[in-house]
Amino acid sequence: MAGEPQDDCLFCKIVAGQVPATVVRETDTTVAFRDINPQAPTHVLVIPKAHYKDAAALAAAAPELAADVLRETQAVADEDKLDSYRIVFNTGSGAGQTVWHAHAHVLGGRGLEWPPG
Ligand code: 5GP
Repeated sequence: MAGEPQDDCLFCKIVAGQVPATVVRETDTTVAFRDINPQAPTHVLVIPKAHYKDAAALAAAAPELAADVLRETQAVADEDKLDSYRIVFNTGSGAGQTVWHAHAHVLGGRGLEWPPG
């Protein structure tokens, strides 16, 4: 069922505390933790605690929760004192999505080029 934890989902396991992560913020509905393979000095993943396979599924099924995730990206940026940063939702394998639990990448702390690769 949409939103229910999935046994085979890495990020559901991080939410449950079964896989360790460097958590930087937690709310009732979201967790933010540092990416294991950082692409910038700040590289934090913000996820909903509930399981949705990608950002599109999250926004369609639970728009208020999607807004919680977005609000948390700003909170992460504030915590790391970032003036500029990038929010990325890789959606689909062709766009580089590898973990099928919706997540926002918050990237900052260095110059970021456009367009991305
Ligand atoms: P995607 O490629 O799906 O947009 O992003 C998945 C992200 O999860 C990648 O940036 C990857 O480095 C990160 N990641 C994968 N496994 C782990 C893990 O076990 N712990 C943490 N903290 N990040 C992970």
